[in-house]
Amino acid sequence: TSPRTPLIAGNWKMHGRLTMARELASAVAHGAPAGIDVLLCPPFPYLAPVAVTLQGSHVHLGAQNLATEAEGAYTGEVSGDMLADLQCGYVLVGHSERRTLYGETDDVVAAKFQRAQAAGLTPVLCIGETLAEREAGDTETVIARQLDAVLAQVGVEALQQAVLAYEPVWAIGTGLTATPAQAQAVHRFIRARIEARDGQIAASLRILYGGSVKADNAASLLAETDIDGGLIGGASLDADSFLAICQAA
Ligand code: PEP
Repeated sequence: TSPRTPLIAGNWKMHGRLTMARELASAVAHGAPAGIDVLLCPPFPYLAPVAVTLQGSHVHLGAQNLATEAEGAYTGEVSGDMLADLQCGYVLVGHSERRTLYGETDDVVAAKFQRAQAAGLTPVLCIGETLAEREAGDTETVIARQLDAVLAQVGVEALQQAVLAYEPVWAIGTGLTATPAQAQAVHRFIRARIEARDGQIAASLRILYGGSVKADNAASLLAETDIDGGLIGGASLDADSFLAICQAA
């Protein structure tokens, strides 16, 4: 059996209201297939009620972001320890919307990664190139830079307690999906780069694909050797679509 259990993660972003959060979490809790890992990342205010809804299920809870600092006078920020208190096991780090819209640099992302692990959370580190970067032939350079910025800070061993997500920015929320071959090529590049430092860690590291994954394209993406799951935005807001993606894994 593969050392890499498939992981399907839903990133709800800033969508929905409390009633929807409870209903969606409940539907996923009841419908999630056995044998894979399923993760839901609701907005901060709904973490506690969703944690209650997920109790007794095997669905994991995660947050979409965390502070770079452990605690203190940081108005509006949420610490890793606070998320751990709310039963979160995971947290997204470096999502392209955080990088692009909120100016998170590679250094900020590395600090958040480290802070997540210090709080006992598993970071889901998101990396990916923009359309301009891909068209300029810079995909691998960008991926390497984003990855190395974190590894320089935490060391390759830290990847034993982490998940990576390759999310080409041009495919997020656009309806454009990387072809399975395009995605696999980048996943292979990422795993090879980690292999060069530690073969065992590379072999057991889960690398998710994200970017307009839907029920009808999930199976072909997930069939690729180095794709170990999906990070799902839009399609995670509909229980039937999200569960169909889970079934495809
Ligand atoms: C995401 O935001 O992580 C994502 C992959 O979004 P979407 O599935 O909507 O493209």
